[in-house]
Amino acid sequence: MRTVGLIGGMSWESTAEYYRLLNEFTRDRLGGLHSAKCVLYSVDFAEIEQLQVQDRWTEAGDILAAAAQSLERAGADMVLMCTNTMHKVADQVDSAVSVPLLHLADATADAVRAAGMRRVGLLGTAFTMEQDFYRGRLEAGGLDVHVPDAEGRALVHRVIYEELCLGMVREDSRVAYRSIIKDLVAAGAEGVVLGCTEIELLIGAQDSPVPVFPTARIHAKAAVDAALAP
Ligand code: GLU
Repeated sequence: MRTVGLIGGMSWESTAEYYRLLNEFTRDRLGGLHSAKCVLYSVDFAEIEQLQVQDRWTEAGDILAAAAQSLERAGADMVLMCTNTMHKVADQVDSAVSVPLLHLADATADAVRAAGMRRVGLLGTAFTMEQDFYRGRLEAGGLDVHVPDAEGRALVHRVIYEELCLGMVREDSRVAYRSIIKDLVAAGAEGVVLGCTEIELLIGAQDSPVPVFPTARIHAKAAVDAALAP
């Protein structure tokens, strides 16, 4: 079994899910007392979030690149960034290490295509929904990507930073997300990418008339597949 390296803490609410999922998928594959070999480097999200809002992405990338190097020194055979948003600096992190970076958008595009779909709605932070680093990568993976309108994007973004990253799961926000998902489906989405690793704490299959693609779960599954590949 290979060792999975996790750059987490963005936020720790979803990193805790990654840890649980990695172990569950490993147990499901190997049975018995098997669990995932992994190393976690967890950052202070307040520092990263400040750099995001100040548009200082290269400095945030330096922190994550140093974290990736620590994971490699600690024996990680691969690195995962447990956040969609920080894939804005994926190239910077990837080039800092010699082990592979498992890109979350690639794993997600693979999962959508495997489900026989192409046209998806995307929910995530404003950075993820509005900038090219993530949407463009999904599109390069063969998907046709649609995002909510400006009002919907602002709501989705606010709930992530003001609620989910703080461990708050509110029914009124779930209702608001459901309505945004309904609009995406009415506009033709065959599936909805939950492109922020905290959204799956709020939204599940039961909240959507079309399949949802929970990115923390998809990423953790891809890591276990890579860790156990022959
Ligand atoms: N975990 C989130 C994501 O998947 C948002 C937090 C962050 O900005 O990293 O995008």
